Amino acid sequence: MRIFKLSKDDPNTHTITNESDFLKLTGKKFPWVRSDGNKSIYFAVCPFRGCSNPVKFVNLIEANRLKNSRAPYAAHHPYSVPGLAEYNEAGYKRCPYASNSYSFKNDNCRRKYEDPENKLLIKFLKENFDRIAYLVKSTFKIYFSAEDYKDMLRNFVTMHNETIEVLNKFNLPWLFLLSYTCQHLSRTPIKADSPFITFLEKTIKLKKVDCKKVKGACFISRQDEFSSLSFVISDFKIKNFGENESIEISLHESNSNGGYPRYLGSFELYIDINFSKNILNKKDWETNQKYLNIAQEVLNN
Ligand SMILES: [Zn+2]
Repeated sequence: MRIFKLSKDDPNTHTITNESDFLKLTGKKFPWVRSDGNKSIYFAVCPFRGCSNPVKFVNLIEANRLKNSRAPYAAHHPYSVPGLAEYNEAGYKRCPYASNSYSFKNDNCRRKYEDPENKLLIKFLKENFDRIAYLVKSTFKIYFSAEDYKDMLRNFVTMHNETIEVLNKFNLPWLFLLSYTCQHLSRTPIKADSPFITFLEKTIKLKKVDCKKVKGACFISRQDEFSSLSFVISDFKIKNFGENESIEISLHESNSNGGYPRYLGSFELYIDINFSKNILNKKDWETNQKYLNIAQEVLNN
């Protein structure tokens, strides 16, 4: 896995970067830094709350790392680590970072409503909604309106998606869109290099009309007939023991005669955890009050 926590109740999830960041974060202290003979070993806790087993770092110690070895990662440690975490086999068995592939569609486990983690995530969403909107925009390359963002948030709250067990602050920018059907794709400016256009061009003949308000963006529709395009984030997947995370986006179209939307297909978009980490932690970030106001309005009601 590429993320970790310092303890079961650590409200922050951290991404694995390098040895000096880890030593700074832990103050080089026990119980995270231990010695085994003359070697140091580094431990932390699995970020999945339902698991919270000890994890051991691999390839984090720079002096011991072989050339061309894999980037540092953390792996479950099948024993208790005194002072840090007890080994919990039931948690391990259902941990999405412990298996080769995890799918939200097949799991959809929820935390209890009263779990304090839910409140922390709502608070995080409220305080960082401008950064989250920025991450959505730069990943999807779609310019949703303020009204769209309001709808997405309302859907998130109505569905109590803050209780999704695999949700954390790094996947929140994309998972907050889970189960939300965006109906306005044809009316929303999209950049020419958006993954939506790349996928749609393989599936249907697209008509693109330049958007005058947003440079480099266009409006899309089917070339031969009028149809309205919509999408839904239909799944969240974790693969290779937490090495990759992705979302599955399904696209639909409906024509002007109404009727049931037709499924066009789906594609997978990989989540860049480091990119979201950098944006979410950026110190000289210029606040965008418009989005923070939307979050205030929706989440305070
Ligand atoms: Zn785990």
